[in-house]
Amino acid sequence: SKPYLRIPPWLRVKIPCNKTYSATRELVKDLSLNTVCQSAKCPNMFECFSEHTATFLIMGDTCTRNCAFCNIESGDILPLDPSEPSRVAEAARRLGLKHVVITSVTRDDLNDGGADHFAATIRAVREQLPGSSIEVLIPDFQGDEDALNLVIEAQPDIINHNVETPPIHYNDIRPQADYKQSLELIERVKSAGAIAKSGLMVGLGENDEEVQGVIDDLASIGCDIVTIGQYMRPSLKHPEVLRYVHPDVFEEYACYGKEKGVPHMYSAPLVRSSYNASLFAGLKK
Ligand code: SF4
Ligand code: SF4
Repeated sequence: SKPYLRIPPWLRVKIPCNKTYSATRELVKDLSLNTVCQSAKCPNMFECFSEHTATFLIMGDTCTRNCAFCNIESGDILPLDPSEPSRVAEAARRLGLKHVVITSVTRDDLNDGGADHFAATIRAVREQLPGSSIEVLIPDFQGDEDALNLVIEAQPDIINHNVETPPIHYNDIRPQADYKQSLELIERVKSAGAIAKSGLMVGLGENDEEVQGVIDDLASIGCDIVTIGQYMRPSLKHPEVLRYVHPDVFEEYACYGKEKGVPHMYSAPLVRSSYNASLFAGLKK
């Protein structure tokens, strides 16, 4: 078998040791919350935690789907915990977050996909931290418009839904999702007047032309923010990295997107959907 690709130098992250990092970790553990930072083994965890940024993962740590790239377990699902919205809000307040990012596993088992729980979490954070902006990274709710509207009505500042990969790779990478359905969701977010955000990963089998195709699609529906980052294999059970995209090529994606009219392109090897989310805090409506 062929040897694995070597991890290039631009992806090696230095691990600083500092107090805020451990304090954030402790607090998240104390309030028995999950962060996507930990579940996804995000390479930016030290940096983000040290800067009082964390992405809360709500509705459990087990998903009803099993996307190939994802490190979240799929399997037995727990009932929703009604105390979770206020625990997230308390953690956000104690961490002094200026921009709160909330995401979830996909709950295809629930009637509304958990949209109401999302809305309750947004409201709880708004109440405890009225000055902060709120970004949610939501699942597709299987195309259910009423569910999406529950989230929109809670008025988060930014609504993010990732397309993750070009449509031709959905079968392998995101088998239970539908590219067109995801684009429609983003279009609805945009027409409701929220800031619409989406993103994808590279290194999962796509080529540059396919990446441009996704950017074209997102630009044509008026997506405000697009993130593009390098896929990194969370474990040996996950698909191999098929290419490491050079930082210059990430730059080219960003230029391409701007030419196509996407106002905010964040494209670099270590960009994650929630990385430097606090930069977006200034984008409040
Ligand atoms: Fe992971 Fe989201 Fe896919 Fe669930 S739906 S497996 S949380 S990427
Ligand atoms: Fe967490 Fe996002 Fe930062 Fe990664 S980039 S550590 S997921 S906030």
